[in-house]
Amino acid sequence: MVRHFIVPLVLALASGACRSDPAPAPAPSGGPAWRPGYVRPPVIDVHGHIYPRGLARLERTMVDNGLGLMVNLSGGDGETAAPMAELTRTFPRMINFFNVDWRRRAEPGFGEAMAAELETAVEQHGFRGLKIPKVLGLYLKDAEGRRVPVDWPELDPLWQRAAALGVPVAIHTADPRAFWLPPTPDNERYEELALHPRWSFHGPQWPDRLALLGELENVFRKHPKTTFISVHFGNNAEDLAYVARILDTYPNVYVDTAARLGEIGRHPPDQVRALFIAHKNRILFGTDIGLSDRGIMLGSQGAEEPTEADIRPFYEAHWRFFEGRERGIPHPTPIQGRWTIDAIDLPDDVLEHVYWKNAARLLKIDLATLGR
Ligand SMILES: [Zn+2]
Repeated sequence: MVRHFIVPLVLALASGACRSDPAPAPAPSGGPAWRPGYVRPPVIDVHGHIYPRGLARLERTMVDNGLGLMVNLSGGDGETAAPMAELTRTFPRMINFFNVDWRRRAEPGFGEAMAAELETAVEQHGFRGLKIPKVLGLYLKDAEGRRVPVDWPELDPLWQRAAALGVPVAIHTADPRAFWLPPTPDNERYEELALHPRWSFHGPQWPDRLALLGELENVFRKHPKTTFISVHFGNNAEDLAYVARILDTYPNVYVDTAARLGEIGRHPPDQVRALFIAHKNRILFGTDIGLSDRGIMLGSQGAEEPTEADIRPFYEAHWRFFEGRERGIPHPTPIQGRWTIDAIDLPDDVLEHVYWKNAARLLKIDLATLGR
């Protein structure tokens, strides 16, 4: 369990405490100040990292922030899936995704073995998906010391088994552009790179960022029956045209919004809004919240550890972005860049899809679980 806890906290892209400005007071007419009268439905957060000792904190977090369901992308591997399932059996408002044990990657038949473990996790332990972290393509080496590419054919049986089981694959590939630039004070993500030197991919020892996205696209193309959630806004939030092209080209691909409001909200808001409206069935609300006994992660990790008091402003920064029409507001994860974002004022119907309907359909959620 320890390694599953450490991997996302060390490798996950995320940000610091919510030092955002306090949100405005509620409007006298009811509803949030940025959208008077609006009643938010119970929301599904499709991108959480919840560890066993974070479960108590999760219950409070969900009640305080109006969440109907949490998707835990750190459900565990073949060894730890069963105890995790047992722990969450009494907490139906969280569902788990399975994780691959990469330490076994040199074993013959690794892909088949992982496919069989995924099947056990889904059929015996109620898991609802598979999560692949960015280690694939970036950090993993094979027995000969060669980089393991995202489109490694050894994993084909795993993608195929996910399709056969009817569960999606959430996949993180590459990272923001700034991580490929020199980690010097003029880098717009210098603060984050200085704190996490391992997140810098500058230099010839690292694969090209667009080459990684090309490998990811090869997987989408080769496995049209497998549903993929390309996390962090298609793993390329800085390029709206790319995200639109991927969604237009591959009906088997969804994107989530986790830990990328800073990037999404930098684009002209009318363009972002148009993309959300055009693809309202394929965009999922996610945050990249992490809860464990060791601490709280809110989209990234800053120098100071966030506290429980930071969780509500973190979610509110999301509501304010999707629901409001303000310009120049703080984004939820300031360590990911000290700029502001523009809210996108999504229509009610699009909010319904992004906040819960798409996730409920994709994950086959019993709506009674959400209180509907
Ligand atoms: Zn994550």
